[in-house]
Amino acid sequence: MNFFRELSIRNSFPMCFNLLPHYAAEQEYTVLMKCVDAALEDGRIGTFFLSDRPACHQGFSTPKLAKDILASGGEPIVSLALTYNDRNTAIHKLQEYYQAGVRQFLFVSGDYPAQSDQNTEKPVFDMDSVQLLMILSGLEESENIAKGCVVSPFKTFESEQVWQYEKLKRKISVGADFIVTQLGYDMRKFDELIRFCTLYKIMAPLVANICLTDMHTARLIQARGLPGVKMEGPLLRGLHEEASSRQGAIGRTAKTLAVIKGLGYHGALIGNHSADYFEVKQVLDKTETLQLGWQKFLDQLDFSGSESPFYYFQEDPHNGRNSSKPAPVALKHFPTPTYLFSYFVDWLVYVPQGPLFSLTGRFCHFCNPRKFWYGFLWLLEYLSKRPLYGCKMCGDCTLYACGFLCYQSGCPKKMLNGPCGGSIDGYCEVFPEKKRCYWARVYHNMKGVRQHVTFTAAPIPARDTSLDRSSSWINFFLGKDHRKIKFEDD
Ligand code: SF4
Ligand code: SF4
Repeated sequence: MNFFRELSIRNSFPMCFNLLPHYAAEQEYTVLMKCVDAALEDGRIGTFFLSDRPACHQGFSTPKLAKDILASGGEPIVSLALTYNDRNTAIHKLQEYYQAGVRQFLFVSGDYPAQSDQNTEKPVFDMDSVQLLMILSGLEESENIAKGCVVSPFKTFESEQVWQYEKLKRKISVGADFIVTQLGYDMRKFDELIRFCTLYKIMAPLVANICLTDMHTARLIQARGLPGVKMEGPLLRGLHEEASSRQGAIGRTAKTLAVIKGLGYHGALIGNHSADYFEVKQVLDKTETLQLGWQKFLDQLDFSGSESPFYYFQEDPHNGRNSSKPAPVALKHFPTPTYLFSYFVDWLVYVPQGPLFSLTGRFCHFCNPRKFWYGFLWLLEYLSKRPLYGCKMCGDCTLYACGFLCYQSGCPKKMLNGPCGGSIDGYCEVFPEKKRCYWARVYHNMKGVRQHVTFTAAPIPARDTSLDRSSSWINFFLGKDHRKIKFEDD
């Protein structure tokens, strides 16, 4: 049965095997197919997760692997990332997979290529996963495919975690059908995501991403710098003591799986750095014997680290997990002068009730057809916004929705609907320990006016690239930017 449909069946708990995880080394095709056959023969796993573009070079194409899995009677779920795919390529690829029979996808923004990569291809980041989901809703194929999205409940700070959940709400609102967590090891955080979805009535099924981890796997994950995956001291110490014992890893993964199921997840994605189904089979066998007493493993699997991260809910003192009461958030502070100034100008000029809205609109309409006046206004916009926001004149201004910080100059992946999952301890995936994540800075700015930071604007669609290097002021009043206002001169 289709993995996505099975997720909705009570107590079904389907599992999917991650055949090409980002931490794995190059795999031989025949080994992968043997693994698929072994899983299908066992009968407990019939779905296989494939990355359209695995981190490690493979001597075969993912569409071929997907087709062969289908021919063997299995189901592939293909993860499509936007690192190197612009909107047209992403849609083209999706249609290619669709024609091959693939009906389940995971849409992700994608990792930023590591500096150590030999690959010289430049990343594209033409849009984010929310924008891709928005585009897909207009496609014929959309009706017949299950669209997965990713969320990380494993962030350390309020400024990272709240945005992860806000972005999740956006993904669901634009059509995501199921949710897969980022790889993580903190059981209280796994529990938190379930409670968050209950609180906000998010009905999409939840799939936990877990990995058969021993010290060797941990080293692979760290060597590859898997974005956003944090391995805390207690976990690393435990792995070190086991001295890479596979039995230790199998036992811990079985307990994790039992806890995940006990907590109420609808399914799991299991990864192993080697394509060895026999080990996964041992995990599944063990889980079956451990399932009933899952609560008692919670303490053994407490890998939350010594510094206490931000949890969305208050701790339940009875079981060390979460209560249903949201935790207090940091107090709002005084807004920065740039934020205050920008907020005031935005109200004056861009809000229809603002005193200068009509006048500015008329002036923009006057300038648009006149070369000299267009150039004058363009230069004025550039000279005022470049020093304040690092403006790149993208022609479709979103400052109003992002705490008056420019995503074009602030976020290497140009994420416009919330952060990617790659930040660690508030730092950007691309500049670890050097530059704070753009969205953490947006959060700080927004804290200047509200204590509970949420998105203030609707999801923002993919940018019209033909507006590049044009005046966003004029585009706004002409209804050419994403807000599509109809300015009427009265
Ligand atoms: S116009 Fe574009 S590049 Fe300039 S500040 Fe606004 S969002 Fe940034
Ligand atoms: S600034 Fe934040 S959202 Fe942008 S790439 Fe870095 S970690 Fe991701």
